[in-house]
Amino acid sequence: MTEPRQLYIGGGYRPASGEAVFETRNPFDNQPLATVQIATEADVNAAVSAAQQGFALWSAKSGTERGRVLAKAAALIRSVRDEIAQMESLDGGKPLSETPEADVDSAADCLEYFAALAPSIGGERVDLGGPWFSTRREPLGVVGGIGAWNYPFQIAAWKAAPALAAGNAMVFKPAELTPLSAYILAEIFTDAGLPPGVFNVVQGDGAVGQMLTAHPGIAKITFTGEVGTGKAVMAASAASLKHVTLELGGKSPLVIFPDADLDSAVAAAMMGNFYTNGQICTNCTRVFVHADIKQAFLERLIPRTERILLGDPLDPKVQMGPLVSPEHHAKVLSYIEKGKAEGAVCLTGGGTPSDPALAGRAFVAPTVFDCPSDDLTICREEIFGPVMSLLTFTEEDEVIVRANSLPFGLAAGVMTRDGTRAQRVAARLEAGVVWINTYNITPVEMPFGGSKQSGLGRENGRAAIEHVTQVKSIYVEPEPLENPYQ
Ligand code: NDP
Repeated sequence: MTEPRQLYIGGGYRPASGEAVFETRNPFDNQPLATVQIATEADVNAAVSAAQQGFALWSAKSGTERGRVLAKAAALIRSVRDEIAQMESLDGGKPLSETPEADVDSAADCLEYFAALAPSIGGERVDLGGPWFSTRREPLGVVGGIGAWNYPFQIAAWKAAPALAAGNAMVFKPAELTPLSAYILAEIFTDAGLPPGVFNVVQGDGAVGQMLTAHPGIAKITFTGEVGTGKAVMAASAASLKHVTLELGGKSPLVIFPDADLDSAVAAAMMGNFYTNGQICTNCTRVFVHADIKQAFLERLIPRTERILLGDPLDPKVQMGPLVSPEHHAKVLSYIEKGKAEGAVCLTGGGTPSDPALAGRAFVAPTVFDCPSDDLTICREEIFGPVMSLLTFTEEDEVIVRANSLPFGLAAGVMTRDGTRAQRVAARLEAGVVWINTYNITPVEMPFGGSKQSGLGRENGRAAIEHVTQVKSIYVEPEPLENPYQ
């Protein structure tokens, strides 16, 4: 193994001031990939200082100049697409059949989108019959980014692109399980001409995240992770009244009406449960299927689920890799056992796969449970693994109440050929994103984020700009001022 990876501060690598390190491992064989230095409080302070200096330079540039740098970064990302995809598969266990498009292209798309938007970020002027006021949409300053491990490169890019387009600087902390691809993004930004300090990477666990949420020099935290951590981040940010964007977990419903195209419904349910080894925040882990079509749905779903190819994520034919870590593997298996113990009927999967080549590794066989009640633990809690819970319904009103019954509100799906019903149900589902006749599609043009306890704020789309800027109103009086105090 090579030298421990350093921090990325002020436009280049810089050793941490302490001795502490952690190892990141390849989830497929649990072998170490790299050792990474952990940031101390002094390092976080240095990163914030560098970001403040970077901010002064970067925020003074025009939107066109900023956009040019972001567009160049997007082009550089595309030029090393395979290298980044390989890194994501090695560090996170995600299949290489997914990572070039889902991770790398979506990051580049996001930078291109916000590069194009940067020149038009601005305010308005309103005449008041003599006086007038204008508004400026100003950057917030230094933004602290804290990432989850399931889409490390994409999360870093989705957070950086709108923030940087608007003139902010960023200190980013990747998840400890997947620390490596953020370095590639930092290097690419530097090569694209980003001034030193505008994008910094600090490494470490939740304690380093806490240093960011507590730091008085940081104006905003943009966080992706679990609901409980998000609440802690928001509480900590309140002490210095930071802005927050929270992209949190979910337990999203997919509602399949009897007139749905069955193959599309099966595709949506599978994409929304098994893509990325089942580790996607928006996954539709509660699949509500109408009683009239349940049998036909299962006849198509189960054989396809059993044909999913599990194996080495670097094999381009493989469709599902291992879970991200042995600890997460144990957690997902414990949910599966809880499901069985509470009366769910396991229709396929239900534990580690039978293939001896995968024994002793962090694999979970794609699992489908038929659930007798919405109250089972596996129907209420986020599992974050390839575990689909099927629930049966008969009435539209009933299924909407059931779909909305949890504190989460990240995403939802509706499968039906009836366009009026699709719109009616989509309007009533409590979710930040609703897909009609598809699932888990996230074009960068579309605002993305949760409602209820699944999050605050939005990433992507024009809406993201509102969350990385603040409005200043400037009122102008053109006439001499009359004094009421003569
Ligand atoms: P965690 O909440 O465990 O961690 C997220 C990040 O927060 C990590 O970088 C973690 O560090 C850090 N962290 C932990 N504790 C604190 C703290 N007290 N203060 C500041 N930072 C802290 O989430 P996971 O990484 O396990 O990610 C999975 C979760 O992310 C799922 O719930 C999933 O639904 C959600 N998610 C949501 C998305 C969305 O867009 N809505 C997208 C992707 C995932 P470290 O891990 O290094 O200890």
